[in-house]
Amino acid sequence: MIIDNDMHKIDDKLAKVTARIHQAALAAGRNPQTVQLIAVSKTQPAAAIAEAYAWGQRAFGENYLQEALDKQSVLQAIPGLEWRSLEWHFIGPIQSNKTRPIAAHFGWVHSVDRLKIAQRLSEHRPDGLPPLNICVQVNIDDETTKSGISLADLPALAAAIQPLPRLQLRGLMAIPAATNNPAQQRAAFAKLRNAFEALNAQGYGLDCLSMGMSGDMEAAIAEGATFVRVGTDIFGARASQHNNFLT
Ligand SMILES: *Cc1c(COP(=O)(O)O)cnc(C)c1O
Repeated sequence: MIIDNDMHKIDDKLAKVTARIHQAALAAGRNPQTVQLIAVSKTQPAAAIAEAYAWGQRAFGENYLQEALDKQSVLQAIPGLEWRSLEWHFIGPIQSNKTRPIAAHFGWVHSVDRLKIAQRLSEHRPDGLPPLNICVQVNIDDETTKSGISLADLPALAAAIQPLPRLQLRGLMAIPAATNNPAQQRAAFAKLRNAFEALNAQGYGLDCLSMGMSGDMEAAIAEGATFVRVGTDIFGARASQHNNFLT
């Protein structure tokens, strides 16, 4: 019998990550309830999601559409798994020909950085569902290789997205340049928080700051993160994008 040892550690790892979030929130003088954990399950099998579900995790983040849809249908068929209680967050780059299934199969999209994508998501959001929750992805370090709108262009994009009928603009998301230096981590997240506060000063009423991953969630929480997106520290290292993710 083959036992994947990593799988049986998901409970422990979820407990540890949750404790870190709790600690970081208290250290920042924040209510831990104001920081929600998104378990980033990209490249992980549906069974790993089911295990996290059994522990009590409900919000999951996925980057690759087809992989996510395949795993969703596996999970939907598991007896006793309350499918409707799951919350799906799309956090990867979006091609414009994928907006219809994304709008139909996710409750949140964190990676909107172009008006055209936002318009298509609004058009394609099914009538029977509530508006799609949107975070605009910001390229806070102006890295040429990274997705995200620049801070300079953010106000115009936010203004154009706000009136789209089938979307609800909820906040901002960023993936800063990787660094182990906590001061640098905080400085990057502070830029996103400042942009968030500037929009709210104009009356946007945003309530979500999606920032912080396995290596920098404490710094993100110190700067006001309301969502942290954590993969590796819950599910272990990602072998490759082409795992057999259905098993
Ligand atoms: C993969 C990914 C994460 C999770 O990163 P870890 O370092 O594995 O915690 C978070 N956000 C986005 C957008 C990702 O693509």
